Amino acid sequence: MFLSRLTFRHGVHPPEHKALTAGVRIHRLPFPSEVVLPVRQHAGKPARPIVKPGDRVERGDLVAEPDGWISSPIHASVSGRVASVGLWPHPDGTHDTAIRIEAEPYSAQLPRPRIVPDWEALSPKELVGAVRDAGVVGLGGAAFPTHVKLSPPPDMPVTLLLINGCECEPYLTTDHRSMVEYPERIHLGVRIMLRCLGVSKAIIGVERNKPDAIAALIATRPGDLDVRVQPLDVKYPQGAEKMLIQAVKGVEVPSGKLPGHVGVLVQNAASVATIAEVFETGLPLVERIVTVTGRGVRRPSNLLVPVGTKLGDLLEACGGMTPDAREIVFGGPMMGASQANLETPLTKGTTGVVVLSEAECRTQPAEACIKCGRCLDACPVFLNPQLLGKLAKAGRYDEMTAGHLADCMVCGCCSYVCPSNIPLSQQFQAAKIAIRQRKAVA
Ligand code: SF4
Ligand code: SF4
Repeated sequence: MFLSRLTFRHGVHPPEHKALTAGVRIHRLPFPSEVVLPVRQHAGKPARPIVKPGDRVERGDLVAEPDGWISSPIHASVSGRVASVGLWPHPDGTHDTAIRIEAEPYSAQLPRPRIVPDWEALSPKELVGAVRDAGVVGLGGAAFPTHVKLSPPPDMPVTLLLINGCECEPYLTTDHRSMVEYPERIHLGVRIMLRCLGVSKAIIGVERNKPDAIAALIATRPGDLDVRVQPLDVKYPQGAEKMLIQAVKGVEVPSGKLPGHVGVLVQNAASVATIAEVFETGLPLVERIVTVTGRGVRRPSNLLVPVGTKLGDLLEACGGMTPDAREIVFGGPMMGASQANLETPLTKGTTGVVVLSEAECRTQPAEACIKCGRCLDACPVFLNPQLLGKLAKAGRYDEMTAGHLADCMVCGCCSYVCPSNIPLSQQFQAAKIAIRQRKAVA
């Protein structure tokens, strides 16, 4: 029985559009003829390639090693031959170093036999090391290396593990289907994470629009684990770490601080399942679940795909695009990045591919601000998007920094409610990049 109505303040309610794939079972995509693995597909420093053209690799072999603590290794997601190591289109619109592997024709793509670590026999430190070696990063979009999260500094002890099952972005159903189809795996991942952290309590926050996921997680909850499944009201962007903490614990993470400052570690549901999988199969993170959806794709699906699958191959496996397809977005429409090149590969952090039809796109031109204040009412971190937008337009970045631009999650709530169609969040993203570049050359 859940009587409390939990959520955070402000935020928006965009149309969900999840019905296209919410009831579609996950199935495995046939292995593509080649994959492309960018060395920059996690937060922190890019990985360093350790293979060269011509090398033969098995599925799961290390192809790029981490460069420092906040970095992550990359493994071959198909068995085959390294075709090139060089510049390739990256999902962020740039070109960056990537390892291209041609898959072995007619191969069954079985991974090299490997020892599956007995996680119960490992110490917390060894467990974190195994998670690091497996290249596990957050699968909710930010791709932050999980081993770093599992190693909180002594002055920020974690007391609660909070699993993010909100998946509040419209269209996406990756986490939803993972929770429905693999609830035991999520509980095992929770158990392993609790052991790493030396913590005894976990909460899984799931929005109420996923009753089947809530039911599956409750039905499989292990009796010896202190894990609560907490239904939450449906609101965007509840999946943002600070918003989720506010919704579940009623605690605000202060400006400029991290979830660790209030003793919480947040991890997305699909990432938790991946941790369990590492200790079930011994395989590193070489594949992920991706929602391919939108009215612009013929066969909306939830697919298990090798990391590095090219966008074109993925769309072809879903029957191709409809004649009125207009825009392709990696991630959801609120925070995702538009794609212009079908050769661009999916990375570990690609939660979904949304192909928007003409009718689903917003096409009206931007007009002058009418000072209606709607963006202020929508911003979940209580910024003044109207003022920040004015400063962004004028390139007054120092004043934007003073206006707490760093707290902006680029969630898109302000742009969504703006009656003048001002692309506020895009302006803030551009300003953040400009400030970063300015710092780098200073
Ligand atoms: S994009 Fe930034 S300013 Fe706009 S609503 Fe989100 S957090 Fe606030
Ligand atoms: S919502 Fe748009 S029009 Fe209204 S105050 Fe904000 S920027 Fe101006």
